Amino acid sequence: MYKVMSVNAGSSSLKFKLFSMPDEKVITSGIADKIGHNDAIFNIKRLDGTKVEKILPIKDHSQAVELLIQALLDEKIISSLSEIKGIGHRIVQGGKYFSHSEIFNEDTENKIRQLIPLAPLHNGAHLIAFHAFKDKAPEIGNVAVFDTAFHQTMEPEDYLYAIPYDVSEKYDIRRYGAHGTSHQYLAQKAKEDYLPNVKSPSIITLHIGSGSSLCAIKDSKCVATSMGLTPLAGVMMGTRCGDIDPSVMPFIINQAKMTSDEVYHMFNFESGLKGVSGLSNDTRDIESAINKNNPRAILAAKMFARSIANYLGQYFVRLGHVDLLVFSAGIGENSSTFRKYIIDDAKEALGLVLDEKANEEMIHGKSGYISTKDSKIPMVVIPTDEELMIARDVVKYLNLHD
Ligand code: ADP
Repeated sequence: MYKVMSVNAGSSSLKFKLFSMPDEKVITSGIADKIGHNDAIFNIKRLDGTKVEKILPIKDHSQAVELLIQALLDEKIISSLSEIKGIGHRIVQGGKYFSHSEIFNEDTENKIRQLIPLAPLHNGAHLIAFHAFKDKAPEIGNVAVFDTAFHQTMEPEDYLYAIPYDVSEKYDIRRYGAHGTSHQYLAQKAKEDYLPNVKSPSIITLHIGSGSSLCAIKDSKCVATSMGLTPLAGVMMGTRCGDIDPSVMPFIINQAKMTSDEVYHMFNFESGLKGVSGLSNDTRDIESAINKNNPRAILAAKMFARSIANYLGQYFVRLGHVDLLVFSAGIGENSSTFRKYIIDDAKEALGLVLDEKANEEMIHGKSGYISTKDSKIPMVVIPTDEELMIARDVVKYLNLHD
């Protein structure tokens, strides 16, 4: 038995999960948040399940990694760093360079750096976190696991935008997608648990959380996904607008005298469920407002559902037939109300029949069917596990074994 760490670093946070492998048990997890602030938060779960939480200044990622290592030792979660055989880093943007995970070396690092303009809030932070671990624990191998890699199997018809071809080529403008690690996990788990005897299953996975994307998967490969050059595209989300006529940008700039940066910020952070409802990006708040008959909350939920139902139709056409619909992530795993909105919108065309009771029950980490036997396409809920996927790739790419 050995240990592997999964790391998800943002510009001011560092989430981690430590697994024992190969049995895939979670040993501990936690987060360093508000890095760069005097009131930063560090928390980690002890082996008995209780939590250590500290509010303290954490000046940078390097100090966050130092705190993490010290806490692992102080709380006797590990007795020495040598028990950890590998670290896997979630990398948001792998561009055209990565169709699978890679060992973190100079070449990997240079390519991730080149891709910073495509993911300015993320790729730079990933590199800072990688260096912090390399500095504090140089003997541990690191693996980069890309959120875009799973989508590299798309065909040009699916990933290109209809702008001049030479512009696409020169600037590498195309659909890269996101949530790839999650969609890949869901496809694998769906095949293992629900479609063991189907030869080349066609699946649509719905990763719907605060960021949402759909993926059409044929024979374990992505054929289409809803996010684009960046995670702003596709279905409506918590605060992001999703697909939109590009003319809206210059129109608002002219009419409202806003700058392109301000409009772009609005599309990313002030739109979606939050923007339409005027209330919140969180489906729990939207649901309670719906229960009070708030018309804008009802409109926001209907628009959200319709944008997802429209993609279901598109992917049904793209795949030819669908063996399974998989609901996952914060909303997909927990909100029976939002699942029902989506299914109601697509049921006539796709012959979907919701099992209302199962739908109500399938929340908080449960996996199971939410459709009746009459449904033309079976529907299930599967909790996603990106961290486990990352840990598995660490084992694979560092060739770890007992
Ligand atoms: P991310 O990983 O992108 O931050 P998640 O996949 O965790 O997001 O999704 C978070 C969202 O899921 C919340 O904003 C909320 O809309 C929704 N959500 C989480 N838990 C529940 C719940 N119990 N009931 C309804 N919606 C929920």
